Amino acid sequence: MQKTNVRAYGAEAADASLEELKINRREVTAGDVEIEILFCGVCHSDLHTTRNDWGGTIYPSVPGHEIVGRVTKTGADVTRFKTGDIAAVGCLVGSCMECKNCKDDLEQYCINGWVGTYNGNDKYLGGHTYGGYSQKVVVEEHFVLKVPGNLDLAGAAPLLCAGITTWSPLKHWKVGKGSNVAVVGLGGLGHMAIKLAKALGANVTLFSRSENKEKDALALGADKVIISTDPQQMKKVHGEFEGIIDTVPTLHDVNIYVPTLAASGTLVLVGYLGPLDPMLNSVPLILGRMSVAGSLIGGIAETQEMLDFCGEHNITSDIEIIKIQDINEAYERMLKSDVRYRFVIDMASLQN
Ligand code: NAP
Ligand code: ZN
Repeated sequence: MQKTNVRAYGAEAADASLEELKINRREVTAGDVEIEILFCGVCHSDLHTTRNDWGGTIYPSVPGHEIVGRVTKTGADVTRFKTGDIAAVGCLVGSCMECKNCKDDLEQYCINGWVGTYNGNDKYLGGHTYGGYSQKVVVEEHFVLKVPGNLDLAGAAPLLCAGITTWSPLKHWKVGKGSNVAVVGLGGLGHMAIKLAKALGANVTLFSRSENKEKDALALGADKVIISTDPQQMKKVHGEFEGIIDTVPTLHDVNIYVPTLAASGTLVLVGYLGPLDPMLNSVPLILGRMSVAGSLIGGIAETQEMLDFCGEHNITSDIEIIKIQDINEAYERMLKSDVRYRFVIDMASLQN
């Protein structure tokens, strides 16, 4: 298969910084769209992956799954995009398209294994997929999305992961006008959860450890902020929420949030991946018919639905634009919860 060499930024090992390197991209096949990447958001999953926090990272690791760019080439069978169009790619670049879940527009739960935009199986070139911290990407048309024309392109990039990851559980658990929901953690995912839940008509509470984020949270649309390290404040909201979206990236005690659910409420974990410690206490769950659930990104149709909703409501992410050369510093700031509220890389910086 024909391929071209493009510039990218990635890590050669779990303890290595991200540096410039070269990767291959395939020449477009009949069903492919080639995109010159203009902006790429920086997700905490990028950091987890390059540092092998979850195990299974293949190196070199080139992360990035919040991609917005311009179409530079299309294959003969492509019908929805043409050269010059603005296009976007999120966390998924492939799935079997045949299993029950794929047929139900749930490609992210593909029974035969979905293909991640990075660290996935590259069936075209062999090896693993490389993400958006690069000049170009070539993606099957089905996995390419349209960005509403009114949205700022840099601010729209984080919708492709932070947006859809919070939108999908909000929709699945039917959050709408008058719903009472809470969000745990004000980072990339958390701030999108607040904006989207608010736009859906919900009353939104933020649980945060950071007192200095309260003003921002209210400006983003939260109705109130509860400092989760203060038991008195936590007690005040016992029994209140139909749903909670927990975006905390590391191991934390989920049991402090469960009693704030209303009867039949659900706490959805989208951040931390792994066994809970301390263990989940079943007592409040049983006494209140509550659930603790999980959710992974969203399907392609649902991602387009979310983008269109953001277009209608003029919703983008609150971002800090960085150069690719500043990515390692950005990761350190992300680890300190010092992001307001998503870093987005201006990929023009990779040309310099
Ligand atoms: P982020 O920007 O770093 O935000 C995480 C926020 O969580 C922080 O700003 C902080 O908010 C809070 N936090 C951090 N450490 C905490 C701790 N020890 N205890 C309590 N709160 C803590 O990260 P992100 O990009 O939003 O990603 C969040 C997580 O979601 C990551 O683990 C990422 O891998 C995962 N993710 C999952 C999916 C999925 O499909 N399920 C998709 C994308 C990302 P406060 O300062 O307000 O406390
Ligand atoms: Zn992500």
